[in-house]
Amino acid sequence: MPYLVRENLFIGNIGDAADVLQHDIGEITHILSVLSSTSISFFSEWRREILIPTEEIRKVYVGGSGTEDDSGDGSKSSLAPEKVLYSLEKAGKDLKFVRMAVPFKDTESEDLLDYLDVCLDFIDRSRKEGSVLVHCFAGVSRSAAIITAYLMRTEQLSQEDALESLRQSCEFVCPNDGFLDQLKMFEEMGFRVDYASPIYKRFRLKVLGIVIGDSYNRGERIDSSKFGTDPDLSAAKISSEVETKAKIDAIRSPLYRCKKCRRVVALQENVVNHLPGEGETSFEWNKRRSGNPFNKPEDNECSSIFVEPLGWMTIVEEGALEGKLLCAKCEARLGYFNWSGIQCSCGSWITPAFQIHKSRVDISSV
Ligand SMILES: [Zn+2]
Ligand SMILES: [Zn+2]
Repeated sequence: MPYLVRENLFIGNIGDAADVLQHDIGEITHILSVLSSTSISFFSEWRREILIPTEEIRKVYVGGSGTEDDSGDGSKSSLAPEKVLYSLEKAGKDLKFVRMAVPFKDTESEDLLDYLDVCLDFIDRSRKEGSVLVHCFAGVSRSAAIITAYLMRTEQLSQEDALESLRQSCEFVCPNDGFLDQLKMFEEMGFRVDYASPIYKRFRLKVLGIVIGDSYNRGERIDSSKFGTDPDLSAAKISSEVETKAKIDAIRSPLYRCKKCRRVVALQENVVNHLPGEGETSFEWNKRRSGNPFNKPEDNECSSIFVEPLGWMTIVEEGALEGKLLCAKCEARLGYFNWSGIQCSCGSWITPAFQIHKSRVDISSV
């Protein structure tokens, strides 16, 4: 049986969801399925005798537009652009349930943050229209992570307090450590997923680092589709466009240009900020060089900026794990990159790191 968490909000496992959809038990009207596949056939793969009728309402892909949900700017998310963000359907007995399915796995490197907006908004709407069951496979990690985020947002609770409160209803819930980290970031971003926030940008880089590390280990070509657009192209596009607010904002925010040839190498929005001297937690796949804590430069100003991987960094695209970053036009040395991280002159470790020396670039406003 599903566990009641709040009025009109239940948590459960795949069996609970199957019961509700097949037999219409209880007061539940809406179902949020968090399984590795959005397809209803997942239920019959689990138990062959289960057949649940469905009728598709819509399927939304990451970065897709034209939905009434306004599911955020997916193009800035760390999810692959062709991936299903969610599917919505009528399902179950007499097609009387509304089921939203989001596809993600229960692994520590799985990207929870990018699904939160659509999930939490669905829970909100469903509770107004009826009662909603949030379920994953075991009802322990994924569904618990989503409901924890929901309680955080609606009741302004810290990650720890929200999880503790959920445990009052269902004591065995236990989101995996990767989800707990992401929920902490969600808290630090003010209970929303802010794509412009340095917290989100660093998270996105780490996810990218894990994906790149995996494909490197498998000997595959790396997928550069998630690298930032070459800012030289964006800058050219901006100057040819008509006068718009976006253009004015873009011009106001600084551009970084190669000192030697003036080619644009980064926009302010490509910069991943860090706090001088802050520690960085390392990630599983990369073993970072050990830094001597007693050697730590004190009160040093950062001599570099760190950016996301960008379209002009061909050496990165070619699959190197570290190397020099050369200007795409004049080949002047601008900096260095290393997927396992680089220590800034202020003492902070940035992982992965795409470093541009401030002395090699000019900051200009046009
Ligand atoms: Zn240059
Ligand atoms: Zn620094």
